[in-house]
Amino acid sequence: MPADVTSLPACPQCGQNDMVRRVSDLVQEEPGSPLAQRLAAPRSPQPAAVMGCATSFFATMVSIGAAIFATGLTELTSSAPRTSLLFGVRDTSVFTGIITFLFVFVGVHAMFVWRQARASRYFRRAFVAWHRASERWQQLHYCARCDGVFLSGQTSLTPVDQVRMLLYARRPPQPAAASPAKAPQSGEGG
Ligand SMILES: [Zn+2]
Repeated sequence: MPADVTSLPACPQCGQNDMVRRVSDLVQEEPGSPLAQRLAAPRSPQPAAVMGCATSFFATMVSIGAAIFATGLTELTSSAPRTSLLFGVRDTSVFTGIITFLFVFVGVHAMFVWRQARASRYFRRAFVAWHRASERWQQLHYCARCDGVFLSGQTSLTPVDQVRMLLYARRPPQPAAASPAKAPQSGEGG
């Protein structure tokens, strides 16, 4: 239906809008085409895995392993008299084992908490970037004549294979007419 052709912005390269389509419409109408795949909407980032029973189980297993190893090592190397025995080993060895267990258990948990905090920080950043890219993608138009994409108000055409750069750019491309001519800022610093 070419009814709303007049509402489409003109291509910055050829100045016409008769071959311009909204990218979101294009992707929706022909989802399998190679062009639609190249212009697909930005994918949302995956949230970080939540710490759960698996983490605690892993920490417990590692801690028990370390405790047994520490107990055995202390038992082998200890020169203390075998007077005070607990479960068949010296109580100093048992003490070493318990301390090792606690330290390793807390350490493994702390490592997971730190990793999760870092992952969620990355996720927040990725989510913000994705959200901005999605909003830009909604305003993206494709000119079939020039085989390029542009945002409303953009004064230059972007090749299709550089669409990710356009979507994820930190600042949207400003129209050249709107931005005043900047004097070259050099000479600062050393
Ligand atoms: Zn064009």
